[in-house]
Amino acid sequence: MKKTNIVLFGPPGAGKGTQSKFLTERYGLEHLSTGDLLRAEIHAETPLGLQARELMSAGELVPDEIVVGMIKNLLEESPDAKGFIFDGFPRTRAQAEALDATLEKIGSDITLMLALEVEEEELVKRLLGRGATSGRPDDKSEEVVRKRIREYEEKTAPLKDYYNAQGKLRKINGVGSIAEITARLTTAIDG
Ligand code: AMP
Repeated sequence: MKKTNIVLFGPPGAGKGTQSKFLTERYGLEHLSTGDLLRAEIHAETPLGLQARELMSAGELVPDEIVVGMIKNLLEESPDAKGFIFDGFPRTRAQAEALDATLEKIGSDITLMLALEVEEEELVKRLLGRGATSGRPDDKSEEVVRKRIREYEEKTAPLKDYYNAQGKLRKINGVGSIAEITARLTTAIDG
């Protein structure tokens, strides 16, 4: 059967992690979050984690090779998965191209990109609020939060054009209750 592969897209604080949990359960997909994978490497104090830590705490992207390598390994390790929710990946054009090439090798492709849209001041409010309890150093300072949003605008947001050109982009209003946003996402997937 053809896999369902969804890129859950949007700026930091748009709700990708929260919504990924609902979507993976509902559709029986695997959740792949490069941010979670990197934080696990940092926690385990691996060489990769040490390399990523400084960049992450400064709000900058880690090099493409690192995240592409992680995702390739995971895709190859899960040949029987019904599909994947990609959360926080791809974040650059090089990552999107590498993902397409890897999926093509396993006879698959991206089904949809669901792009959550939330304006900047709301994102800053959400991230600093989360920082009070999440223990994530990159959620604690307004300077780092704004740097992450700028990185998104410069390097990541242009991927909407990349997937739009393939007819796969669906824009989703990311403001509302968690349940309302889940409903918008499932409508887009089921449609
Ligand atoms: P996230 O949990 O998705 O907000 O990611 C937290 C941080 O991890 C980002 O600010 C980046 O430093 C790094 N990161 C996560 N995913 C990627 C990616 N696909 N490409 C580059 N850096 C990433």
